[in-house]
Amino acid sequence: MTLTKKGETKPAPASWGLTTRGGNVPWEYAPAPEATDHVQIRSEYGLFIDNEFRPSRPRASFEVINPATEERLARVARASKADVNRAVTAARRAYDTTWSRLPGSERAKYLYRIARILQERSREFAVVETMNSGKPIKESRDVDVPLAAAHFFYYAGWADKLDYAFPNREPRSLGVAAQVIPWNFPLLMLAWKIAPALAAGNTVVLKPASTTPLTAYLFADVVLQAELPPGVVNIITGPGEIGMELVKHPEVDKVAFTGSTQVGKMIARAVAGSRKKLTLELGGKAANIVFDDAPLDQAIEGIINGIYFNQGEVCCAGSRLFAQESVYEPMLEKLKDRLSTLRVGDPLDKNTDVGAINSAGQLAKVEELVQAGIEEGAEIFQPDCQLPDRGFFFRPTLFTGVSQSHRIAQEEIFGPVLSVLTFRTPEEAIEKANNTPYGLSAGVWTEKGSRIFKMVSAMRAGVVWANTFNRFDPTSPFGGYKESGYGREGGIHGLGAYLDLAPSGTNGR
Ligand code: NDP
Repeated sequence: MTLTKKGETKPAPASWGLTTRGGNVPWEYAPAPEATDHVQIRSEYGLFIDNEFRPSRPRASFEVINPATEERLARVARASKADVNRAVTAARRAYDTTWSRLPGSERAKYLYRIARILQERSREFAVVETMNSGKPIKESRDVDVPLAAAHFFYYAGWADKLDYAFPNREPRSLGVAAQVIPWNFPLLMLAWKIAPALAAGNTVVLKPASTTPLTAYLFADVVLQAELPPGVVNIITGPGEIGMELVKHPEVDKVAFTGSTQVGKMIARAVAGSRKKLTLELGGKAANIVFDDAPLDQAIEGIINGIYFNQGEVCCAGSRLFAQESVYEPMLEKLKDRLSTLRVGDPLDKNTDVGAINSAGQLAKVEELVQAGIEEGAEIFQPDCQLPDRGFFFRPTLFTGVSQSHRIAQEEIFGPVLSVLTFRTPEEAIEKANNTPYGLSAGVWTEKGSRIFKMVSAMRAGVVWANTFNRFDPTSPFGGYKESGYGREGGIHGLGAYLDLAPSGTNGR
C-alpha cells in the first residue's frame, strides 16, 4: 500500500512488484554500471623510481587482468634484483638529501596535497580499483578511497607534532621503508603504509601485489601531481621473490608487510638479526559472537558485513559466527533470508554486493576449503543466485554443523564463506573464540555493557568491535596477536612504528 497526499491508502502500482505477503520482490534490478570512460588505464606501466616511469632492466613485464571479466587491463614491468637496488638507492638519496631535512610542517603540506588529490580523483581511483581487484564499486567508492584519503589527512596532521605525540621521547625517522602489500585493499593498504612513513620523515619503496598494481601506479601520478621530491615514493612490481629482495636489501631500515602468515614468517626470518624494524599484519579467523539479548536484525547486518564485505577477502573478516544456542534457530533463518538477497555479479554495478574473487588461484583455494567443509560433514547453504559466465565468482556461502576441528573453522579461507557454531555461556564463547592460532579481530553483539567489557578483555584479538563490525578509522590502531602478526598500523601507534623512539636525552641531540 502507498500513502496519498491526502493521507488515504491505495494499492502500490503493479510495476513496483511488491508482493502482499512480504515475499521476495519478483523483479530484477536494472543494470546500473559505473561509467569507465573517464578512466585511462595505460597499456603498459614501467617501474616508478625517482619520479619517473622506467622499464625494468632487463626488460620484462607481466599481464594484469580484470578478475570479473578475465580481460587484460595492462602489462606492468617485472622488476629485477638490479631494479630493487635502483629503487632503494633512489629512496636513500631522497632521504639523505631532501626528505629527512624538511621540517615536519613542510612534509605535512605534501601529505595534505596528496589527500586532496585523492579526493578530487576519487571516482577514477574507485573505478580502477574495482576493475583491477574485483571488489564492488560501492565499496571502493565509499570505503577504500575515502579511507585512503583520510589516512593521508590524519598523518599529515601529525607530521609537525611528533614531539607531542611521543612525550619524553626523541622521535627520529628511520630511513628507507620497504613495504610489501596484498591484493585485497590495494590502495588502502598503500595509504596505511605510505602516509605514516612519510609523515615520520622516511622515504619508501613499495611493492604492490602482482594481481593489483594499477591503483599504486595511479598513485604514482598523484605523487607527480603533488610535486613530491624525486625518490621519496618509489613503486616497483614483480613476484614475491622481488618482495623478498626488497625487504632484505641492506639499505632498508624498516619493513612493513601485510599478507599471508606464511610469507610473514619468511620475512621475519629474513630480517632477524638485522637492525630493521619490522611490522607484520597477517591472517585472521575472527569470531563474531552474538548473545541472545543482541538486537537480532542489527546483528544480522553486522554478520553479513563482517564476512561478505569485499567477498570475505579481508584479514579481519568475521568468518566464525558463534550464536548463543537460545537464538540460533531464528538467527539462522534470518541469516539465510538475508544471504538470499545479496546481489553477486558485475563489480562495476552500483547494486552489486559481492563482486569477483581476486584471482583464479584464490578462487581455487576457496573452492578447495569449501569442499573440505562438505567432506568433513558440515552442512552447506548457498543462495540460488546466477553467477556471471566469465570471471572468478563464488556464491556467498554459510556452513552449519561446524565443529571446531574442521578446517573451515581453523584455516583462513579469505572468501565469502561463513562457519556457524554455537555456545551456551560467555565462558564457552571465550574459549571457542580464542581457540585459533590467529588473533587479529573479533566482534561481540549484546545489549549489556558489562558483558562487552568482560568479552573484550578476555579475547586475544587486536581489535574487538562491539555491536558493529569491520569499522576502520585512521585514528585507531589495528594489528594482531599470535600468528596474526605484530606491531600496529593506524593511529599514533602506527606512526611510532616508523620512528626511532629513544628516551629523551639518549639520542645525541
Ligand atoms: P601473499 O602473502 O603471498 O602476498 C602478499 C604480498 O606479499 C604480495 O605483494 C606478494 O607478492 C608478496 N610476496 C609473496 N611472496 C613473497 C615473499 N616470499 N617475500 C616477500 N613478499 C612476498 O598472499 P597471497 O596473495 O598468496 O594470498 C594467500 C593467502 O594469504 C590468502 O588466501 C589469504 O589467506 C592470505 N592473505 C592475507 C592477507 C591479509 O591481509 N592478512 C592479504 C592477502 C592474503 P605477489 O603478489 O607478487 O605474490
